[in-house]
Amino acid sequence: MAALNALSLLNTVFGYPAFRGRQAEVVEQVAGGGDALVLMPTGGGKSLCYQIPALLREGTGVVVSPLIALMHDQVAALREVGVRAAYLNSALSAQQAAAVEQAFLRGAWDLLYVAPERLVTPRFLDLLERAELALFAIDEAHCVSQWGHDFRPEYIQLSLLHQRFPKVPRIALTATADAQTRAEIVTRLQLEDARQFVSSFDRPNIRYQIVEKADPRKQLLDFIQAEHSGAAGIVYCLSRRKVEETAAWLEKHGIRALPYHAGMDVQTRQRNQDIFLREDGIVMAATIAFGMGIDKPDVRFVAHLDLPRSIEGYYQETGRAGRDGAPADAWMTYGLTDVVQQRRMIESGDADLQFKRVGLAKLDALLALCEATTCRRVRLLNYFGEDAEPCGNCDVCISPPATWDGTVAAQKALSAVYRTGSRFGAVHLIDVLCGHATDKVQQWGHDKLTVFGVGAEIDEKGWRAVFRQLVAQGLMGVDHDAFGALTLTDKSRAVLKGEQQVWMRQEIASKTSRKSRRPI
Ligand code: ADP
Ligand code: ZN
Repeated sequence: MAALNALSLLNTVFGYPAFRGRQAEVVEQVAGGGDALVLMPTGGGKSLCYQIPALLREGTGVVVSPLIALMHDQVAALREVGVRAAYLNSALSAQQAAAVEQAFLRGAWDLLYVAPERLVTPRFLDLLERAELALFAIDEAHCVSQWGHDFRPEYIQLSLLHQRFPKVPRIALTATADAQTRAEIVTRLQLEDARQFVSSFDRPNIRYQIVEKADPRKQLLDFIQAEHSGAAGIVYCLSRRKVEETAAWLEKHGIRALPYHAGMDVQTRQRNQDIFLREDGIVMAATIAFGMGIDKPDVRFVAHLDLPRSIEGYYQETGRAGRDGAPADAWMTYGLTDVVQQRRMIESGDADLQFKRVGLAKLDALLALCEATTCRRVRLLNYFGEDAEPCGNCDVCISPPATWDGTVAAQKALSAVYRTGSRFGAVHLIDVLCGHATDKVQQWGHDKLTVFGVGAEIDEKGWRAVFRQLVAQGLMGVDHDAFGALTLTDKSRAVLKGEQQVWMRQEIASKTSRKSRRPI
């Protein structure tokens, strides 16, 4: 009976013929009073999973959402189809908020969206006691995870909803959940008894491509001009300055581009966002401040000029491409400096040891994706606990990189680090390996070392790839107190002793290195 009602609500109120994926199951679970944890990719249709149960049950569905802009859009869309919806957040004046609250107590809302910091106040919790509640929906539930980049401290307090209102069903939703985040959501929100609904995270229309960083802006321009001329896209950069520079540079080369980062004044930022959403073919250069809750279906590409912090970040950011289902690209340049920079950001931060360890593990997983010699989609989905077949729609599937036995090259590189006292960066070490007697090399007497010139069979570009892959694989370390000097790690020893083979991607290594077997 409930299922029938759910379907007729879907048809009549929302105007859709059928539920998608696991929506119907989720609706049944929550409408029947059970708890649910819903993991669905962006664009999968999470909203209906709580909107329809809220309409099916007596009382108001209270939706916790961290995104003011999204609340506003959702409420406007719901009102358009005749659902009685409202929101409470800092965008309202005190009078407006009071009016919404009064109406809430009268039972005037089917759905009430509330910012988390407001929800957990004693005053608001008292208000909840006096209202009739259909359910609690906790949107963007991964914000409860301390390890993610969207962490919101107030989310931790949301466990008290269960304690104060044990009879009200709860549904937590997220588009981001590796096993660890999922486990954290369950424990922190006390959702041990919730049924879990995990949808496939595959986005088959997105083509994944990760290219070696050489001249990144030029590579980006070539990519846009070749594949996405006149299309809307997002280019993610790490720093605000780089955002500004990238936007200006694209503009200079005839591509309509705008900057977006948290350091800009609110009006300009908002205006740029509006233009991006409204007009065709705008490229937004942005920090990760941009994107959460942006619903633009025809974003044709998401490019990364810098490495994200984790696979979740990468997946979420690239997920903003191709929400309309048409072909789209996730394109990233990646190089040794990215690895060093990200490691430094984690290791030199103020966070405690445990936090750093998790951060580094997440970075390592992402690096393994970058260095993958098998289907990137399979890797990505495996990370989210899904099995998959090679996709035929990523760079690795399309042109599989050959691998080569880089053990000897690795030994040479590690020896160069060791012989020079673990105090130098890649540029200097490569000069030593290639036998370039630069001033610096001579000044340190490194032209006298046995490793001087032993790596001449690989060119500089090839060596950069070797160093990058060694650092990415944890076979070489980075000393951040010594300005990013490359060092040996526990794992280096096995390679130096010849106990461990090192496989590398061919396309980024070089020339004749495979044949070289010169002793060190
Ligand atoms: P999410 O929150 O998971 O990113 P949304 O709830 O915003 O996704 O839904 C994404 C889009 O898909 C919206 O435009 C929504 O109206 C549409 N949608 C959701 N469920 C269905 C359905 N069963 N049939 C058709 N369209 C749907
Ligand atoms: Zn593939």
